[in-house]
Amino acid sequence: MAKTKPGKKDLDSYSIKGTNKVVRVGDCVLMRPSDSDKPPYVAKVDRIEADHRNNVKVRVQWYYRPEESVGGRRQFHGAKELFLSDHYDFQSAHTIEGKCIVHSFKNYTKLENVGPEDYFCRFDYKAATGGFTPDRVAVYCKCEMPYNPDDLMVQCEGCKDWFHPICMGMTIEEAKKLDPFLCSDCSSEDDAKRTF
Ligand SMILES: [Zn+2]
Ligand SMILES: [Zn+2]
Repeated sequence: MAKTKPGKKDLDSYSIKGTNKVVRVGDCVLMRPSDSDKPPYVAKVDRIEADHRNNVKVRVQWYYRPEESVGGRRQFHGAKELFLSDHYDFQSAHTIEGKCIVHSFKNYTKLENVGPEDYFCRFDYKAATGGFTPDRVAVYCKCEMPYNPDDLMVQCEGCKDWFHPICMGMTIEEAKKLDPFLCSDCSSEDDAKRTF
């Protein structure tokens, strides 16, 4: 009779050692980097499996930080921005050091407080080509930049576009005091109407 190799067993969850945190398939986790000076890696757990010796491995889909992408970090990238890559790996479950939440861009901008475990993702990233999906995003302000949720923007009552106070030549405090806020184009139009 042929001997069957002791098989691998899929698990539903894994408890992070020394914590009461339970990781389930689909959760986002922080993984200890080999270089302890670096921030933790962020990944989505795709599969959890144990071998016959009960060594637990996780199959993860990596999130890339902007600085790890081919194009590097750009001005419009948020501090907590991540890209969901098409890069998968098997890792020992021991390298999981905590859990985190990767929000959609829309939900992230609605958070009252951004905690250390909060991240957001608005782009998928192809690790081999450095390509992003979507490859176009809406741009705002005179500087025609995509929205960086870390930078305050004010909406013009006239054209409904969003602006960085600094691009309008004012401080954040000055912009907040203007209620309603009108961008330079709309306020000059406004002046023109008043003169007539
Ligand atoms: Zn701007
Ligand atoms: Zn305007």
